[in-house]
Amino acid sequence: MSEEPILSVTELTKIFGEGVAETVVLKGVDLSMMSSEMSALLGPSGSGKSTLLNILGTLMRASGGSHEMLGVDLMQASEAKRTEFRSKHLGFVFQFHHLLPDLTALENVMMPAASAAGRETRLMRERATELLDAVGLADRRDFRPVAMSGGQRQRVAVARALINNPVLVLADEPTGNLDRQSADQVMDLIRSINQTMATSFLISTHDEHIAAQCPRRIELLDGRIVRS
Ligand code: ADP
Ligand code: MG
Repeated sequence: MSEEPILSVTELTKIFGEGVAETVVLKGVDLSMMSSEMSALLGPSGSGKSTLLNILGTLMRASGGSHEMLGVDLMQASEAKRTEFRSKHLGFVFQFHHLLPDLTALENVMMPAASAAGRETRLMRERATELLDAVGLADRRDFRPVAMSGGQRQRVAVARALINNPVLVLADEPTGNLDRQSADQVMDLIRSINQTMATSFLISTHDEHIAAQCPRRIELLDGRIVRS
């Protein structure tokens, strides 16, 4: 029995602007991802990696094509449905950690769950504590971002991405701002989460060393996938 993909897009297009300012960024992207997959998304700067991740993450709508995930037609879905879907099934890690400076590591990790529910619960606190433990930062739980290294902050950001137990984490150049050693630690962490929690990851990068740590590579060039 062949496994169903968790995510499938076909002939996905994205056009920014109108008239003379029109830019066609995605020109027909076909892509499927399976559960527990860890893939690198490669492509030169400006090739549309962030645009594709934002669309897959429901942060932005495609201009055309089909976009389905977990049996839901995200192209047709209302904004409310997409928002609900995003908070239930998707996690995000960005190049800059985007942690809230006034919150501790633990509070930052709990944030997506607390904001979805409108309040904090003991269960969230427990799960956030477990996640900080899993990313090797149990002893930094009550520290604010300013008191942590770049690599530690990015590990907190990975823990935060996992709080709602997403099926897929979209990571946009998550190691782009880190030194080699911290970048490798973040990649080791992602790999171990991918294996133990069966979370899928799609990681954009232009670093071959990072891409080499992913079992699958997807290459974007001039708005199309040229290899996957
Ligand atoms: P990458 O992440 O691969 O560097 P991006 O997806 O950020 O590429 O950008 C791809 C192209 O889309 C670039 O030419 C960029 O200028 C353009 N672009 C991205 N976002 C917008 C936007 N909101 N409005 C107009 N053009 C945009
Ligand atoms: Mg980008």
